[in-house]
Formats: sequence, C-alpha cells, structure tokens
Amino acid sequence: MSFISDTILGAFSSDLAIDLGTANTLVFEKGKGIVLSEPSVVAVQTGGMKNRVLAVGFEAKNMLGRTPGNIIAMRPIRDGVIADFEVTEAMLRHFIFKVHKRRRFVRSRIVIAVPSGITPVEKRAVIEAAESAGAREVFLIEEPMAAAIGAGLPISEPIGNMIVDIGGGTTEVAVISLASIVHSRSIRVAGYTMDLAIMQHIKKNYNLAIGEQTAENIKIAIGNAYPDPERLETIDVKGRDLVLGIPKILTIDSEEIRKIISEQINAILEIIKVTLELTPPELAGDIVDRGIVLTGGGALLKNIDKLLGEETGLPITITENPLSTVVLGSGKVIESIEILKQVTIR
Ligand code: ADP
Ligand code: MG
Repeated sequence: MSFISDTILGAFSSDLAIDLGTANTLVFEKGKGIVLSEPSVVAVQTGGMKNRVLAVGFEAKNMLGRTPGNIIAMRPIRDGVIADFEVTEAMLRHFIFKVHKRRRFVRSRIVIAVPSGITPVEKRAVIEAAESAGAREVFLIEEPMAAAIGAGLPISEPIGNMIVDIGGGTTEVAVISLASIVHSRSIRVAGYTMDLAIMQHIKKNYNLAIGEQTAENIKIAIGNAYPDPERLETIDVKGRDLVLGIPKILTIDSEEIRKIISEQINAILEIIKVTLELTPPELAGDIVDRGIVLTGGGALLKNIDKLLGEETGLPITITENPLSTVVLGSGKVIESIEILKQVTIR
C-alpha cells in the first residue's frame, strides 16, 4: 500500500485489538482502551435453508438454556478451538461492527489474541473472519504472550516468566523468554468444567437439575480453592426436582463446592508441574525467583493463589484485572509497532 493511501486510511481507521476468548470477547480500540466486553455466545436459529444468527454476546448468553427447540445458544470457541467456523465469523463481525458503529468504511488494523495451540486452518479462519468484517490488516498474537505483555512482564529480556491463564474452556500454561514462547501447554479444564462438575454433583446427589448459568453463579458466589472450614459460606440454589418434576430450593455450602471443583484444580496444578519440569534449568531458576503470574477469569476463584502457591512452593501473583489482561496486552501491541514486530505470529 502506498504511503499516501496508508496515511489517509490511517486517519480514518480505528485500530483494534481483540481477545477472542472461549468465555468472553473483549475489544480494545487504539487511543481509547477497552470498548467492548461481552460473552462469546451466539444464538442461532436452526432449520430452514441456512442457520440464522439471532443474537450475539450478552443478549445471546441470557438465552443459554432458555431457548425453544429450534434456537440454540452456542459458544463457538468453547474448547479453545474454533468449533464452528461460520458462527465464529458472524460473532467476530458483529463485535467489530458494533465497535465501529455506523462508520461503515472504517478499514482498521486488527490484532487478535488466539490460543497458542491454534492450527493453521483455525488461524486462516480467524484471519478471514476479521478480513470479511473489514479489517485492512490482521495480526495474530498468542494469548499467553498477550497476557504477559498485559501483565507488564519484561517479555523481551532473556528471563523466564511463567504465565498461567485459567479461562472458560481452557487453561494455558506458558514459559516466555526473549519475546517468544519457550514452552506451552493447554488443557480443556477451566471455568466451564468446574461449572459442569457442580451441575453433575447436584444432579447426582440431590436429584436437582440446574442450568449452566446457575452452576457458574454458585462457583462465583461461594467457590473456594482452599479449605476454609472456619468461614463456611452458603447459597440457596434453585432448580427442578428430577423426581417430582417441580421447582425446588437447596442450600449448599462452600466446603462441598470446594470438594467438587478440587478435581479441576488438581488437573491445573498437574500441568503447571509438568511445564515446570520441562522448562530448561536456567529459565526454571528464574521462575523459582519470580514466581508464577496467574490470569484469566479463573484467577478470581477465591484462594486459588494460596492453593497453587502452597502446592508449587512458588510465589503467585494475580494480574490486576484478570479478565482484561489479554486484551490490554494486545492493545499495547496495536499501539506499538515495535512490540507488534516482535511478538505477532502473522
Ligand atoms: P476466556 O479467556 O476463555 O474467555 P475468561 O478469562 O474470560 O475466559 O474467564 C472466564 C471464566 O472465569 C468463566 O468460566 C467464569 O466462570 C470464570 N470466572 C469469572 N469470575 C470468576 C470468579 N469471581 N470466581 C471464579 N471464576 C470466575
Ligand atoms: Mg482468555
């Protein structure tokens, strides 16, 4: 592109950074900060010639578990991979248009944070989705790298840093040094699997059917990673009695919930340990000194830092705003061509 047209486009463009998360999508606009934060959920009407997108984001999330037969509310990137191409594209386009409002001819540069395990086909899909939404240029950055930048870690130095990002669908553990990911692991155990475990436990032990949203609310309200029997908390849970078929209320306490989600937390602990074992000694030494940086919505689970700290023997730091760390890091990338050159994988 010639200098002049680039300058003219630049003047009208609003460059964006997007965290395309399994649970939440956030958009950062250059010069403005975070301008959008909504659930990565799309409500789709099935049947007919083509599936029709009915709602995206908050509106669609409210429909989860409450839809009639021909409408499904889905999370197109539930497991950290793009499960549904077209729906992901529709979602991305919806959010980009929403940020650009009616400025239809905006042709922006977009940085998108993607899971580090993304396949070439999935990369292509994300890039095409952004291009079809009007992006002039698309750059991808690996989520753990974006998280490290968002956390203010010295990513370009020859120092090992460990990032653990507990999201909705996946937990990613990565060791970063000299602006690249030295080693990373991802498991499909994170916030949702905790919610599912809570749902199943309540169904099995109390014959009570609850929705995903209710399970998540329980986790957020009284979930705790560390035994705290002195300060038991309780919550009333509304669901449907599976035997009588009528609505019922159950009171459940934080210690019971902790036991349910401890399996997920142990799985997360395991991959942290494996990653530490596979990290070259010098970098592992750095991590012993510097500790682990914890981010993602799962970092907000009560006492998760205390538990991981005790089990690994390492200091744990939770980022300032775990739900926004990745998009803030991606925002720094779109604001600095220097960082962009260093860390984008396309
Ligand atoms: P992703 O990057 O995969 O979109 P996020 O980083 O946005 O995921 O985190 C979403 C997850 O964090 C959800 O599973 C949500 O239930 C969980 N979460 C959010 N707040 C809390 C909280 N206070 N306690 C425990 N879990 C939380
Ligand atoms: Mg994330």
